[in-house]
Amino acid sequence: MKKFITLLLMTAIVLSTLVGCSTNEKEKSTISSDKGDKIKVVVSFNPLREFAMAVGKDKIQVVTMVPEGVEPHDFEPKVKDLLELTEAKVFVYNGLGMENWVDKSLSSIDNKNLNVVDASKGSNLIKNTSEDVIKEHGQYDPHIWLSLQEAKVEAKNIKDALVKVDEKNKDYYEKNYEEFSKSLDSLYTEYKSKLGSLQNKSFVTGHAAFAYLCRDFGLNQQSVEGVFAEGEPTAAKLKELVEYAKNNNVKTIFVEELASPKVSETLANEVNAKVQKIYTIESKEDSKTYMDAMRENLDNIYNSLK
Ligand SMILES: [Zn+2]
Repeated sequence: MKKFITLLLMTAIVLSTLVGCSTNEKEKSTISSDKGDKIKVVVSFNPLREFAMAVGKDKIQVVTMVPEGVEPHDFEPKVKDLLELTEAKVFVYNGLGMENWVDKSLSSIDNKNLNVVDASKGSNLIKNTSEDVIKEHGQYDPHIWLSLQEAKVEAKNIKDALVKVDEKNKDYYEKNYEEFSKSLDSLYTEYKSKLGSLQNKSFVTGHAAFAYLCRDFGLNQQSVEGVFAEGEPTAAKLKELVEYAKNNNVKTIFVEELASPKVSETLANEVNAKVQKIYTIESKEDSKTYMDAMRENLDNIYNSLK
């Protein structure tokens, strides 16, 4: 009997050790699949985060350099942002004068495994018209993410980079990209016909961020601030906008949270128009996804013109 009890005890000890062991293994593997396996992607500002997430979903972990509520046209990276870059596999930026700090930042860090993605590569660009703007910011209008067509180019450039660094999940990234691309096309088709049916084509906004959206849908924008959100307009410019709004029967003045809403409000009062929020998506606002913000923009533009 004594022998049997000893045996029983020994078995119990062995069993509990085995169980303990397997629990530990399980914990370890859960931790690694939650964090360690994800591809670290750093993006410069919000729309690129949206596109990266649409393609990479739960296979990637995204860090956005420009914080929420900060205007990316004015941003300069801090030391902690550069540290994020040293640990990343992929870095995505928009280009076209949105991030003048990129070259300097990349040359100051040591990360040979970093894949750098110029997301605007291959897109169909609109030239800046003002000589001063060209001198300071370069030839092209950078706001390509506000075109549903050019958004596909940015998402594809990001997809190609993810496939390159994580070949084994190629099908996953391709499938997500196709789905995202289809939803962009379907929103485009819907508003192409809605906006195409209208006589009025001109709207007034705070920051001239919507040239690509206008090109997609045959619309015209006039704005309080320029392409690079340079600040408050001159009295002459304001007078010109008042004339424009009156001549074009403008009933709505759009405002962006990060441009100068006060000037837009003054203008709206002057021409008896209402003020309506519009999203540049340069920063995450009202927790809206890219698709939600674009749909709301198009719907608000449509309602203001019909
Ligand atoms: Zn802008």
